[in-house]
Amino acid sequence: MRVFSIPMTTRFRGITVREGALVEGDAGWGEWSPFVEYPPEVAEPWLRCAEEAAAGDWPAPVRATVPVNATVPVVAPDVAHEIVLRSGCTTAKVKVADPGSFLADDLARVEAVRDALGPSGRLRVDANGAWSVDEAVSSIARLDRAAGGLEYVEQPCATVEDLAVVRRRVEVPIAADESIRRASDPYRVRDLEAADIAVLKVQPLGGVRACLRIAEDIGLPVVVSSALETSLGLAAGVALAAALPTLDHASGLATRSLLTADVASPELVPVNGALVAGVPTVVPALLDAVAAPPDRVAWWEGRLAMVHALREARRS
Ligand SMILES: [Mg+2]
Repeated sequence: MRVFSIPMTTRFRGITVREGALVEGDAGWGEWSPFVEYPPEVAEPWLRCAEEAAAGDWPAPVRATVPVNATVPVVAPDVAHEIVLRSGCTTAKVKVADPGSFLADDLARVEAVRDALGPSGRLRVDANGAWSVDEAVSSIARLDRAAGGLEYVEQPCATVEDLAVVRRRVEVPIAADESIRRASDPYRVRDLEAADIAVLKVQPLGGVRACLRIAEDIGLPVVVSSALETSLGLAAGVALAAALPTLDHASGLATRSLLTADVASPELVPVNGALVAGVPTVVPALLDAVAAPPDRVAWWEGRLAMVHALREARRS
C-alpha cells in the first residue's frame, strides 16, 4: 500500500488536503480514499472498489468517452460565465443555497451560466440538502425560470422523506446525491419514489460492478460522480459511466482540477467536455512526490488492518 497526501486547489467539503491510499493487486493499482472521518464499516466498500480495480475486474465499456459537467461554485456571474465557456462542457452544475448566500445571487449566477451554455446546453443545480421543503419548492420554481429550464435539482433537502415531498410538488426532476451513501440507500430512494435520478459514486457503493447492479435494480437514470479522487480513482467512475447500458446525463467526474497533483498518467482531465475510458498508469515519481509522512502512513495501515478485521469478524 502507498499513502498519498495532495493539497487541494480550493477548500472543498471542508478539507484542504486529500489523503488516500493506493493498493496493489494482480493487475495493478486501485485507489482507496475514504474520507478520514469515516469508520471502518463505511470505509470497507471503498476498499472493495480499490480491490476490483487492482484485480483488473472492470466490465467492458460500451462507449469510449464519457461527457462530464463543468462545476460552478459560489462565484460572481461574470466568473461563472467564464468557467463554463472555458470548460468546453455542454452541461454545467451550479452550486446554489450555500449557507449565508442569497437566492438573488443564485438566480444571477444561473442566468449567466445559461448565457454561456446557450439554449441547447444543460444546466443542473446542487443545493447539497440546504433547503426546507417549502424553500425548495419556491426556490426551484424561480431557478427553473432563471435557467430557462433546469435539467434537474440535486439534493434540494437533507432527508429522503423531504426529497419525496418536494418531488411531488415541483416539475423539475430531482436527483438524490447525499441520500445515497451506502449500498442500501438507492433502494430506499426508489421505494419512497424520492428522486428521478440517482447520483452514484463507485467507491462508497463498493465498485464498478456493484454500481452497475444497483443501476439495473433501481431502474432510475444514473449520474456518475466522483469522490474527489486522483486520476486513478476517477478512472473507476469513468469505467462505470462507460459500461452503463444507457447514459443520458453528463457525469460529475471533472474533479481532477481540485487537486494540485496526481499519481497517474494520463491525467483524467476533460477534452471537449468528455473523459476517455481507460486505466491510467501509476507513475512512481509522481507517487513519491505526494507521499504522505510516516505518521499518516501508519494511520492508514492501521485503518486497513481494521477493515480487514471487520471483514474477518463478518465471516465468522
Ligand atoms: Mg451533489
